[in-house]
Amino acid sequence: MSLNQSVLICDQVNPILNEILEKNGLQITYEPEITPEQIAEKIGNYEVVVVRSRTKITKDLIQRADKCKVIARVGVGLDNIDQEAGKEKNIRVINAVEGAMNAVAELVVGLMLSLAREIPRADREVRNGNWIKKELMGSELRGKYLGIIGLGNIGKRLGRLAKSFNMNIIGFDVMPIDEEFSKEVGLMKADLGTLLASADYISLHVPLLDSTKHMINAEKITTMKNTAHVINTSRGGVIDEDALYDALKNGDLGGAALDVFEVEPATSNKLRELPNFISTPHMGAQTKEAQSLAANVIAEKIIQILRGVI
Ligand code: NAD
Repeated sequence: MSLNQSVLICDQVNPILNEILEKNGLQITYEPEITPEQIAEKIGNYEVVVVRSRTKITKDLIQRADKCKVIARVGVGLDNIDQEAGKEKNIRVINAVEGAMNAVAELVVGLMLSLAREIPRADREVRNGNWIKKELMGSELRGKYLGIIGLGNIGKRLGRLAKSFNMNIIGFDVMPIDEEFSKEVGLMKADLGTLLASADYISLHVPLLDSTKHMINAEKITTMKNTAHVINTSRGGVIDEDALYDALKNGDLGGAALDVFEVEPATSNKLRELPNFISTPHMGAQTKEAQSLAANVIAEKIIQILRGVI
């Protein structure tokens, strides 16, 4: 049965999404560069609105979305959609948690290796004609303690990958941790204080909430080893960046790698000046596989909602 409804796609998404929706009779308006003003003009005409992270679906936009049944984020976090306003208007707000899991976890492994072996610096120096082999005495991940804060989809995937490097995994979550996973990786469950004091690498995988805002701050950093490395691929606000900057500058921390920042794009962030700091441009889910998986998952969910199955 053809669905014969209209979909506004506001960001660049994997073409698989359009293909599946069109096959099911949906009419697509694909506007990956659309502005908020243009969305405001059009949103009232669509049953489905699809975004990634560029577009913010605010309360004001939702109030104009009179025909809308579904707002879909082809990604994980829903912080760019006003979910409360959606609920008030009886609109289903959906995401695709499955898509990014492996991509983000693999990026964390890449960042840990980059910190341990100074790979970005090594590459820069060779490009500049400098053979600084003697300065690049790194360390191995094997046998080190990895503290994972937040053992949801991404945190657990990271635990499994890190296990294959023979790392020791310490975990903290406010919710009960999956027992099967704990057994599989030999997880040492700990409170936050113990994790921070024991880990060589600390990786954050929590949502940004009032309770997680600046959960890594100056006070917490003083409890960590001064050789510890902090990695954040979750959301920028989870780390107090001023405190991180001071700690990295004063030698109170070994290093840090951030994929996410309090203000993005972080192209003028002062952390970039520091030699023991590595950054990537919020690219955790930016793999072909993750985008294609997320697009498939979102397309199927939209169809099932419009057909009244879920
Ligand atoms: P998830 O919901 O599966 O897991 C989050 C976990 O954090 C849950 O187990 C939850 O109980 C736990 N948690 C919540 N508050 C906590 C607290 N105060 N202390 C300890 N644990 C707490 O989420 P996920 O899919 O694993 O995603 C994790 C994070 O990664 C999210 O912030 C998400 O937005 C982010 N993310 C980033 C990228 C990227 O491109 N860098 C891509 C996808 C997801």
